Amino acid sequence: GYGSLEIICGPMFSGKSEELIRRIKRAKIARQNVVVFKPSIDDRYEAEGICSHDGNSIKAINISNSEEILNYINKDTDVIGIDEVQFLEGDTLSICRGLVAEGKRVICAGLDMDFRGEPFGCVPNLLAVADSITKLTAVCMTCGKPAIFTQRLVDGNPARYDDPLILIGAKESYEARCRKCHEIDK
Ligand code: ADP
Ligand code: ZN
Repeated sequence: GYGSLEIICGPMFSGKSEELIRRIKRAKIARQNVVVFKPSIDDRYEAEGICSHDGNSIKAINISNSEEILNYINKDTDVIGIDEVQFLEGDTLSICRGLVAEGKRVICAGLDMDFRGEPFGCVPNLLAVADSITKLTAVCMTCGKPAIFTQRLVDGNPARYDDPLILIGAKESYEARCRKCHEIDK
């Protein structure tokens, strides 16, 4: 039969990785065959695992293109997890739909908006075709209200709208912010 597509989205620090890890652990307890992937660009922690900001972790396979998923699964695979799905190259929408058509439970976690507040990569399209969506909030680092945005700071100042999406080697940092406190230098 058909599988299903679950999306866990929200800003940085909203607990997306934590929630993905929780669902994967429960599938493993139920003795399901589980494979977890993450884009190799996200190397904030160890090379072969996904880690939440509070230190929980599970094993994950590093890939750069979503097509690589097909090399690591077979007909016995029940559950496929993908963290930081917004950074995967390739036609992630088609790959995920194909997996669901083959009966897999696919769970994707990722940022729904980039630092500018724009829809991020494949995530808006995944949300459109998902069976279930969990949109998490973080705590606004300025006012303490629920935060749906990711604030990028470069040398302590709000990033500019036309900054590249992926900065390499810059003194950048990120904070969760609410709609009122999210700042962007246009
Ligand atoms: P995500 O995958 O969405 O970036 P993680 O699952 O990696 O989130 O991390 C969530 C954890 O981050 C929280 O449980 C908490 O310990 C920590 N954290 C740090 N800053 C914040 C914040 N501003 N709001 C909420 N949690 C935060
Ligand atoms: Zn705020």
